[in-house]
Amino acid sequence: MIRPLIAANWKMHKTITESVDFARDLAGRFPELKDRDVVIAPPFTALSAVAQALRGSSIFPAAQNLHWEDQGAYTGEISAPMLADSGCRYVIIGHSERRTLFGDTNERVNRKLRAALRYDLKPIFCIGETLAEREAAQTFDIIEKQLKEGLNNIPTSDIRRLALAYEPVWAIGTGKTATTEQAQEVHEFIRNVLTTLHDRDQAAQVPILYGGSVKPDNIGTLMIQPDINGALVGGAGLDIESFAAIVRFDNT
Ligand code: PEP
Repeated sequence: MIRPLIAANWKMHKTITESVDFARDLAGRFPELKDRDVVIAPPFTALSAVAQALRGSSIFPAAQNLHWEDQGAYTGEISAPMLADSGCRYVIIGHSERRTLFGDTNERVNRKLRAALRYDLKPIFCIGETLAEREAAQTFDIIEKQLKEGLNNIPTSDIRRLALAYEPVWAIGTGKTATTEQAQEVHEFIRNVLTTLHDRDQAAQVPILYGGSVKPDNIGTLMIQPDINGALVGGAGLDIESFAAIVRFDNT
């Protein structure tokens, strides 16, 4: 049984004070999480303060991106050892906004994944097709390519250290959610590709999160699917009441 993982991606939202207030409030509402992991990804400026606020709680801080080099002349970038030093435990890699707005190719995503693993950061590796790709019946080809190229040169023994996030680009921030059947179909495909590229044992341990307009009223039906092991939440993760309701999901 894979332990569910619920992650909030705050994108370019919240000041340090707002982030810390949210983190404290959330940690207070969930003092002990026995059967699920919860992660919040504030902007870089708030990461260290959020990590401190969450210390000793069952909620973990995540970054939204990193650079693959450890250090150097890369103005504006942040490296994996810097994130680890700030108390960060997870890092979102390959989010569709990074791919479409900031040039993250599969090859760059691969370098970022390897950098995160080198510093013991748990990557949340995002993949997903655009609406045009879905309509052209290319969803599975795109997903397979993103997985193969993204996981290039990552040893089988490291696969269980990843979390995957399937985020159909057409469902992000649009209010459109993939149906639970559409999501489960792709999640099952992802697990099969992982099994083929690596091995069944490792693939069976990887949480595969769904992302795309997840809300308190659809989390329960998503989480009853056999290959949906969590959620990557954008908009609804900015509001404490709605994120707390998602964290509290009941899939029984
Ligand atoms: C996201 O940005 O990863 C996301 C899933 O956003 P939303 O929940 O707002 O669709």
